[in-house]
Amino acid sequence: MEIGHGDPEDGDIVEPMAKIPVPEEVADAIRTLIRWSGDDPAREGLIDTPQRVARAWKEYCSGYGDDPAHHLSRIFEEVGGYDEIVLLKDIPFQSHCEHHMAPIIGKASIAYLPSNWVVGISKLARVLHAYARRLQIQERLTAEVANCIWENLKPVGVAVVIEASHACMTARGVRTPGVSMVTSRMMGVFRDDDRSRKEVLALMGY
Ligand SMILES: [Zn+2]
Repeated sequence: MEIGHGDPEDGDIVEPMAKIPVPEEVADAIRTLIRWSGDDPAREGLIDTPQRVARAWKEYCSGYGDDPAHHLSRIFEEVGGYDEIVLLKDIPFQSHCEHHMAPIIGKASIAYLPSNWVVGISKLARVLHAYARRLQIQERLTAEVANCIWENLKPVGVAVVIEASHACMTARGVRTPGVSMVTSRMMGVFRDDDRSRKEVLALMGY
């Protein structure tokens, strides 16, 4: 078992979002939303808000410009016949729900049982973020991360468990703060073999 701490050689690159131009129609749409919410988009504190919101959304949704499979394209031959679970545990992430465009904030645990190839462990987090930085539902996010690893690494098993709270539930609607949703996707040996599934879930802390 290996619990990763990220790969220092390829830390997150922060794009300078402040520089990108915001089309007038996008700024107008945000002004319309401010007006619809009951405020005056022309008042001083809100003057620059449309530009800020527009750029923030480009950042929240930067996953559309990021090919998740690309992060798994540099694979390494397995060293020394390692055939135990590789787990990256409690990776914090943020996404937005496609129904309300409200934040989904949570953590993911991603595990696989290698067959022939392993990847740098930070790549698993990159796959997660590439899918999370889009408009999502948690169930699809979970499945997409698992499928991507399954198809690209061709491992013996993949297990993805995501636990997240949805602002559309905690801040509006039924308003139930503290509630989180858990989704999981098990593939290969983690789906078919009870002992393997229990082992991976125990490593993840479930
Ligand atoms: Zn929602």
